[in-house]
Amino acid sequence: MTAARTARRALAGALLAAFAAFAACEKTGDGAARHAAGDDGGAAPSAFVPKPAGALRLTIFELPVHGLAIAVETPAGALRFVDTGAKADERSSGKEVLGPFVTASGAREIAGITISHPDRDHFEGARYLLKRFAVREFADGLAADAKLADDYVELREQARSAGATVRMLRAGDVLDWDPALEVTVLAPPTAGIATRRKDHENDHSLVLRVRHGTQVFLLPGDIERAGAASLLAAHPTATLRADVLVAPHHGFFDDAKFAATVAPKHVVVSCQAEYADKEPREPGRLAEQLFGAVAAQVWVTAWDGTVTITSDGANSTVTASRPRR
Ligand SMILES: [Zn+2]
Repeated sequence: MTAARTARRALAGALLAAFAAFAACEKTGDGAARHAAGDDGGAAPSAFVPKPAGALRLTIFELPVHGLAIAVETPAGALRFVDTGAKADERSSGKEVLGPFVTASGAREIAGITISHPDRDHFEGARYLLKRFAVREFADGLAADAKLADDYVELREQARSAGATVRMLRAGDVLDWDPALEVTVLAPPTAGIATRRKDHENDHSLVLRVRHGTQVFLLPGDIERAGAASLLAAHPTATLRADVLVAPHHGFFDDAKFAATVAPKHVVVSCQAEYADKEPREPGRLAEQLFGAVAAQVWVTAWDGTVTITSDGANSTVTASRPRR
């Protein structure tokens, strides 16, 4: 571990303590946001301090169960989520992690929830957010005729009846998130992706490219090999190059060509430490090998806690909420 990294971790630890105190206050106060912390608030502390003015900040949360959830705080101060984690085994990413984050942020509303693909580990936290907070927009990358599980159809209905605009996104769309950001949808293509996999939602994940000044963030959902091949075929290297990559498919991803093309400085893997029923059992280690080979620094939520990236448009700083396990 470098000295700089050690210092950043120490700082993140101090921020964690500050947020724990703040969250405790917020539980009894009249937060500006519609409120998460009632009888069932259950606020678990996670690192939170206001971001610097004009900065873009992404927070990739350590979740209580397998999943992915990313908060995007735009330079102008809007709060969005890309994926929202799961609810399982009586644990809830929405209630335990995301709701307290929104409350602590003081946001008056959630500007948008974007779901990369309709798998429970990505969308279930949205139920809680829609119930507890004002949400302006709900977006996904699904075709109108896609065959969806009943609970995802219900979630879209919930979003509609909560007053959110429901949008379907496709490759080529440019999203109006913030005047200081260029947000483009790189996938899925309208024509779909050729894959033999029966369960191919992963490869049809919505892939977002967020540019803030010189800093590029790539959010590829759960794409696997077919999704990665489609991206490589559809876009020039300059488009896929990124400073920060959220690891595809929780680190269960082994496409070296994709890793070399994106050539990220930082990779953030949202995964549990170990999976008894999956191969490889430790996706964090696979991601370290794959992206370490292209000189990326690899952050793993199971080892580093919640990971935060702050961009000033010229540089990005990464912090973790606790020392690596
Ligand atoms: Zn997933």
